[in-house]
Amino acid sequence: MEIKAIRGFSDILPPATRRWRMLEERAREVLEGFGFSEIRVPILEKAELFSRSIGTETDIVEKEMYTFEDRGGDLITMRPEATASIVRAYIEHKMYAADPMAKLYSIGPMFRHERPQKGRYRQFHQINVEVFGISHPMIDAEVMAIVMHYVSLVGAAGCRLQVNSLGCPRCRLPYTKNLRAFLSDHLPHLCEDCRRRMERNPLRAFDCKVQGCQDIMSEAPLVSDYLCTECADHFAAVRNYLEALGIAYEPNPRMVRGLDYYTKTAFEVVAGGLGAQNAVAAGGRYDHLVAALGGPDIPGIGFAIGIERLLLVLPDESLPPGPSLFIAALGEGPQREAFSLSYKLNQVGARTMIDYEGRSLKAQMRRADKFGAHYVLIIGEDEQRSGKAILRDMKEKKQEEIPLPSIFEEIMRRMGEGSP
Ligand SMILES: [Zn+2]
Ligand SMILES: [Zn+2]
Repeated sequence: MEIKAIRGFSDILPPATRRWRMLEERAREVLEGFGFSEIRVPILEKAELFSRSIGTETDIVEKEMYTFEDRGGDLITMRPEATASIVRAYIEHKMYAADPMAKLYSIGPMFRHERPQKGRYRQFHQINVEVFGISHPMIDAEVMAIVMHYVSLVGAAGCRLQVNSLGCPRCRLPYTKNLRAFLSDHLPHLCEDCRRRMERNPLRAFDCKVQGCQDIMSEAPLVSDYLCTECADHFAAVRNYLEALGIAYEPNPRMVRGLDYYTKTAFEVVAGGLGAQNAVAAGGRYDHLVAALGGPDIPGIGFAIGIERLLLVLPDESLPPGPSLFIAALGEGPQREAFSLSYKLNQVGARTMIDYEGRSLKAQMRRADKFGAHYVLIIGEDEQRSGKAILRDMKEKKQEEIPLPSIFEEIMRRMGEGSP
């Protein structure tokens, strides 16, 4: 009986892995350029970390977490998102001690038990970006500028930035009261989840996927109409700084994000053609999360880019590999020569491959083709005797003889130029 991967968990095979690495490498370059440093946090955390940060009434915590008791009887969760873990680490290691400002990023897998569908998996991957210690609206605009810069750099098509303000606890109080009144007027037509959540967390009704609830919520009062002076000023300043950077955006007053910890700025990067699950990236400010998880009163803002979603809006072409060399050797002497030469080239970073089985030139050329070799070096017994080898350029379809003693230098020079 063949064992298959778990539903919603995918293998990432070559050559797709090359595109994944490109996305990860570009993210590192962009983020390090903006002064971010990488943080690596564990995949497993205490379950409580997520119920306390994301919120107990949310879909993620109520329905989607991989939570289990480990052998010691502790309640453990496979992280459904990275922010809570990064905040936990920031507090645990007192990263705020010398300076509360920290710009951190992390790349890795997340786990949610959702219904698998296009671009949505139970193990999915995110690039996570978090900034601590800055309440100035400039940073809100900067993190949005970073995500827009990144998606355009990697070639994602048709990405639009949507922004909203979710206010602070002060302006949310009167808003929540009115939203609750609105929901209770429509109580008979709400689903069970929304009825239950109405008392403790009415904002979550905006996330409901039931069509009837969505129709009702399209008429619901909006938090953006209830912002206090401070939140309204902050939101106006954020939009102003976005404009200063030339970043196009659309206000979306219905976007509330599916997590409880957001305050003030919330944003999503959406792409046409992704349907209902159209967010490629999303994030927002979380000014009270550090304190809620037992740290000092330090503001934060961050976002996550979904790698699988991003791949859906990237052009399909596969990335060309760098210049590479296949060494085809015929006979035992040449095979030894090829074996050593290939190792020497591999050690200095050249992409090189040989045939190990002493097969025919035709079979070796087929393997060279599969490897995507730009060049094939052919060493036969005759060539070895005369101290020469043939270098064939597979792209230009031409070949030349190269003296064996200087072959390493000759090949390195050509590979370096990218076009021997
Ligand atoms: Zn406010
Ligand atoms: Zn509902």
